[in-house]
Amino acid sequence: MKIDIPIPCPTCGGKMYSVSYESSISLLKKRSWQVCKECDFERNSEEFKKSICCA
Ligand SMILES: [Zn+2]
Repeated sequence: MKIDIPIPCPTCGGKMYSVSYESSISLLKKRSWQVCKECDFERNSEEFKKSICCA
């Protein structure tokens, strides 16, 4: 599942989208990360949230 997000890429300033999927192995864990449409930059959404709260 891909969702456009209003956060610019930190590398090139391009548009990013969020990707998420629910693993069939760990049912309770939902993984998601953010991907840049322009340069394929990726980051884990959880790490990103941590970096915001601890900045
Ligand atoms: Zn980028």
